[in-house]
Amino acid sequence: MSDALMTTYNRLPVAFSRGEGAWLWDSQDKRYLDAISGIAVCGLGHAHPEIQNAICDQASSLIHTSNIYRISHQETLGERLCDIADMERVFFANSGAEANEAAIKIARLYGNRRGIKNPTIIVMEQSFHGRTLATLTATGNRKVQAGFEPLVQGFARVPYDDIQAIEEIAKNNSSVVAVLVEPVQGEGGVNIPADDYLNRIREICDRHEWLMMLDEIQTGMGRTGKMFSHQHNRCLPDVMTLAKGLGNGMPIGACLARGAAAEVFAPGNHGSTFGGNPLACRVGLSVLDVIESSDLIIRAAKLGARMQAGFEEKLGGLEGVTEIRVSGLMIGIELDRPCGELVTLALEQGLLINVTAESVVRLLPPLIISDEICDEIIEKVAALIIAFL
Ligand SMILES: *Cc1c(COP(=O)(O)O)cnc(C)c1O
Repeated sequence: MSDALMTTYNRLPVAFSRGEGAWLWDSQDKRYLDAISGIAVCGLGHAHPEIQNAICDQASSLIHTSNIYRISHQETLGERLCDIADMERVFFANSGAEANEAAIKIARLYGNRRGIKNPTIIVMEQSFHGRTLATLTATGNRKVQAGFEPLVQGFARVPYDDIQAIEEIAKNNSSVVAVLVEPVQGEGGVNIPADDYLNRIREICDRHEWLMMLDEIQTGMGRTGKMFSHQHNRCLPDVMTLAKGLGNGMPIGACLARGAAAEVFAPGNHGSTFGGNPLACRVGLSVLDVIESSDLIIRAAKLGARMQAGFEEKLGGLEGVTEIRVSGLMIGIELDRPCGELVTLALEQGLLINVTAESVVRLLPPLIISDEICDEIIEKVAALIIAFL
């Protein structure tokens, strides 16, 4: 492994040279089944012909101008995203963390303009929002924060899926301006809250004029069986962030807002050199085209049910398997012990999986998988876990 790279990752000893659909090939031409999609990024699979075509076509005409000019693909993508999400305005960034930074800045500006001293954002335990200073502070994982003190001020933390804890803060803290929450926690271990959790957060936010801000970076773009995970509920957020699946591998992030939250930024308040460039936005449009002209979102819901049934049948009730959690094609199998070595064991068998929160086997396969590939993933992952326990 090259010493030229900063040691920010413990890299697995494999490098891929090409991909197609749910498959990747390494430099020795060994084939792997990709059940993680670059961590929920390549939802349409690798080398999707329409995405490939959009990239090549756009790259051969125009990649970058600047946000000091109008960018027509950015305007079109903004309008289409607002349309499908019932939002009013979008800021385009290059990553999830940057999309969340925009959301955090919106909440601060919203609070300060209303004369609220030290505006505070409620965030959750076990959350993940990114690696910039503000987003790592929002993140509920000490490992992500340790050593980067002083952290950013203005965050208050409560347990996930605990409405009472939010109500308590509402009673005692008049500086709160927003709640930032993942509809399903991804890095935190595929934690799925109670059915009415988001609706109840919506009610509290309405009552106190707080902004309800949803981080749909991992859950968005069809992953959970709806275009956006909060659409399983009847509520609409004030702010929603997207990234990962929006570009199918092309770096792009988006912060969407409606109502008062859509009005806070004025020229000079925020910006990005690369954000919303013609290439990234053309690819975003192409991703939307593919999703909207297919049954991929319905498939994600059906395949999720298939995964749930398959894993329940093979692993349910087994000693050592704590819980099987499924929301569309976000699957978490929690074991009663750390299980990081499963990743290497799977890799040896030509299967790409992930372990998060130490003891949760996480699967985020592309939405394009067939029933047969779904069954192959169930078969292989279950066998690995049974052999491991
Ligand atoms: C991946 C992720 C982020 C961070 O996105 P980056 O593109 O890595 O900055 C933020 N929030 C959630 C929920 C994520 O899954």
